Amino acid sequence: MGVTTFLSALTGSFSQGAGNNPTVSIMEAGFEAAHMDVRYINCEVAPEHLANAVKGAIAMGWLGFNCSLPHKETVLEHLDSVGESARLIGAVNTVVIRDGQLTGENTDGKGFVEALRTQRDPRGARAVIFGAGGAARAIAIELGLAGAASITIVNRTAERGQALAEHVDQNTEAECSFTPWGSHYRIPAGCDLVVNATSIGFSPQEDQTLDVDFSTFPTGAVVADVVPNPPMTRWLRAAQDAGCIPLTGVGMLVNQALVNAKLWTGETLDATVMHRALEEALGI
Ligand code: NDP
Repeated sequence: MGVTTFLSALTGSFSQGAGNNPTVSIMEAGFEAAHMDVRYINCEVAPEHLANAVKGAIAMGWLGFNCSLPHKETVLEHLDSVGESARLIGAVNTVVIRDGQLTGENTDGKGFVEALRTQRDPRGARAVIFGAGGAARAIAIELGLAGAASITIVNRTAERGQALAEHVDQNTEAECSFTPWGSHYRIPAGCDLVVNATSIGFSPQEDQTLDVDFSTFPTGAVVADVVPNPPMTRWLRAAQDAGCIPLTGVGMLVNQALVNAKLWTGETLDATVMHRALEEALGI
C-alpha cells in the first residue's frame, strides 16, 4: 500500500472499542486492486463525539463511512435521508455523503442477499432464520424485500422473535411467523433456506452449535451462517454432510463490503481479492 496522499478520498468506520476491524483489510485491498485513490480508516468515536465526527467527515470530503455499535441507531438523527431497508431495520451501518447530503443504508442484509444470489435467487424462498438480533433483523427484512415467499423466525427469547416476525410480516410481501425454539428443533419439510443468524459457533466457541435435529436438514437447501470465523462452522459442516449447500459468513462480509464500495464510489471492486484479504486478516 503506498503512502496516503493528501487528496485521497476517504471512507472508514466509526466504531467504539472495535479493535482489529477486518473490514479495513477488505476495503483497502479492494481499492488498491482497482487502482483507486481511496482509503478506508477505522476511527474510534465515543458516543458523545458522534455529531462532531459526522461533521468532520463532511468537512473533509469523505465519500461515506460505516457505523458499528453503539452508533448504528444514534447516527439516524444526523442523516438527511434513509434507504428503505435501513428504515425498516431501524439501524444504519453505512452512510453515503454526496454534495454534503447524508443518506443512511443498511448493508448487513444486502451483503447476505448478494452472497445468497451466488447460490440461488432469494425470490420464492421458504426460509427459516434462527435469531432475532441485529443480523437476523437485517437478513429477514432484506429477504422479505427480495421476494422470499415465507420466513419462520426461531429465537430463544420469544418476545424478541415474535416482534421481529410481526414487523417483517407487516412490512414486506413475505409471510412471516414466529416459532418458539424447543429442544432439538425440527426444520420444517419444504423449507429451502436455513440461516443461523445467532452468534453461536463464533471462535473461540467453535465447538458450540445450534440445538437443532440435524437429521431434518432438507437435502438440497441452502444453509447459511452469519458467523465468519471459522468459515465452516459445525453448523455448516453438518448441513454439508446432510447434502445441503453451505454459505459462509465470510461471503456475507465480503459482499457487504462490495455493496458499500459501490454505494460510495459507483465502482464494483474485485470480490476475489477482498475475499483473500479477509481470510488473511482473520488467519483462516
Ligand atoms: P445480537 O446480540 O443482536 O443477537 C444475537 C442473537 O443470537 C439473538 O437472537 C440471541 O437470542 C441469539 N443467541 C445468542 N446466543 C445464543 C444461545 N446460546 N442460544 C440461542 N440463541 C442465542 O447480535 P447480532 O445479531 O448483531 O450478531 C449475531 C452474529 O452475527 C454475530 O456473531 C455477528 O458477528 C454476526 N454478524 C455477521 C455479519 C457478517 O457480515 N458475516 C454481519 C453482522 C453480524 P436472544 O434474543 O434469545 O438473546
